Amino acid sequence: MTFDSLSLCTPILNALKTQGYTSPTDIQQQAIPAVLAGKDVMAAAQTGTGKTAAFTLPLLHNLANSRRRASHNQVRALVLTPTRELAAQVADNVMKYGKELNLNYNVVFGGVKINPQMMKLRKGTDVLIATPGRLLDLYQQNAVKFQQLETLVLDEADRMLDMGFIHDIKKILALLPKKRQNLLFSATFSKEIRDLAKRLVNDPIEVSVAAENSTVDRIEQCVHPVDKNKKTRLLVHLVKSENWFQVLVFCRTKHGANRLTTDLVKKGIPAAAIHGNKSQGARTKALAQFKDNKIQVLVATDIAARGIDIAELPHVVNYDLPNVCEDYVHRIGRTGRAGKNGRAISFVCHAENEQLHAIERFIKLRIPKQIVEGFEPGQALPAEPSKPVKSGAPKRNSSGKPANAGQKRRRPAKARKTSGNDAQPGKSNPWQSKKPKPANRSSVTNNQ
Ligand code: AMP
Repeated sequence: MTFDSLSLCTPILNALKTQGYTSPTDIQQQAIPAVLAGKDVMAAAQTGTGKTAAFTLPLLHNLANSRRRASHNQVRALVLTPTRELAAQVADNVMKYGKELNLNYNVVFGGVKINPQMMKLRKGTDVLIATPGRLLDLYQQNAVKFQQLETLVLDEADRMLDMGFIHDIKKILALLPKKRQNLLFSATFSKEIRDLAKRLVNDPIEVSVAAENSTVDRIEQCVHPVDKNKKTRLLVHLVKSENWFQVLVFCRTKHGANRLTTDLVKKGIPAAAIHGNKSQGARTKALAQFKDNKIQVLVATDIAARGIDIAELPHVVNYDLPNVCEDYVHRIGRTGRAGKNGRAISFVCHAENEQLHAIERFIKLRIPKQIVEGFEPGQALPAEPSKPVKSGAPKRNSSGKPANAGQKRRRPAKARKTSGNDAQPGKSNPWQSKKPKPANRSSVTNNQ
């Protein structure tokens, strides 16, 4: 299939040629005709599947085709995203794909001055990309109005719920005209997402391209068992000896990310950290330098890394395993994007063994272990997990969905915040006794 056969207008087709896209991805093939037809859409799509273009291209086409114009402070299409980085990323895509169209685009998020955003919104906006908190601030200051709103997109809806944005979303929904097109994109269709969908979409077309909780096949995953105190040396060794460039490294805490960044820089490896305590300016700068190959290693926490999309990112390293199994899938989804191969490497110390098994059970895959010479752990990881998992591809049921589809995996953000760990209830968990501070979770509410 080609993009021409999807009946998109010429300016959009030209932009796609400039991007070098030859054919639509699965999610694009399914979602674009439905959105063009004005239908509500619920789409389950993993990160890296081309989901942004799946809603952006037909949205732009529809807006450009109608002769309506946005009046002062009005918005015709609103895209809500959970994080600033994702908002910036989506806005980047909208501007790229809609470059040749005579439409106005704006992006608003917290952490930066509100006044310039208010000024830009004055003349009316065709596509506004926003994080929920800042959008509500702007509404309260009369800087944004929704009487002319035609389309609402919720991007990464599952993440929005995880991050506790449900109340903001409900407030925003109450401000919008009842008659509108709704597009809901989510990595998974959990019960919570279906509950949200009930109040949002109307007779939706459901599209799905990837099984829930599965990891992208193109990503080669491996575990390096290593003692905790040797992780930094191992990272330095691998980056230098294997000539790694553009490595995205995940740490569990902001403090850990800062410390690792300092240690890497001391060892002569250009690195920067990106997390919720960094100013928006510092985060944007670090990301730009990483994309331009000016820094070799970007050290991130989970929330900050959401929305990072770098073409052909070859390596993702889990310096610490995530507390939440889904975060493992999101983390490694930063590589192997848009049909490219990628490697996801996890450094796992003895204390992280239970967590590794929880992840393996979650993705239904045994991750191969490789000890790096010179970094043999003092205490080896037990060879077999306490509950065996099958190696190979994730198990599916007859409908092609994973056998555990729809099962609740996470507790609400609030509960996680107070309990300080994300292990499944009843499972033994080495983190439980240590009660670590889930720093990247505690930044959730101020992370916009
Ligand atoms: P997303 O899932 O929206 O984050 O997109 C992942 C990556 O795929 C981005 O770098 C897009 O620029 C790229 N992409 C989107 N659609 C296509 C396409 N049809 N062909 C090639 N790359 C694409």
